[in-house]
Amino acid sequence: MAVPKKKMSKCRSRKRRTHQKVAVPTIVVCPECQEAKLPHAACPSCGAYKGINVMTKDDEE
Ligand SMILES: [Zn+2]
Repeated sequence: MAVPKKKMSKCRSRKRRTHQKVAVPTIVVCPECQEAKLPHAACPSCGAYKGINVMTKDDEE
């Protein structure tokens, strides 16, 4: 098994980890129902995408 030759300093580890970040998801407002939704995806609350309904909600049947 490969063994590190020198102890890695806290500074070096922490500097490397400055590049690790959690990405904040982009939220846009639905033009149909003004609900928050993900971009480039059908709205989960009204099912609209680009102004047309592409999904049928279970409670609308
Ligand atoms: Zn919507």
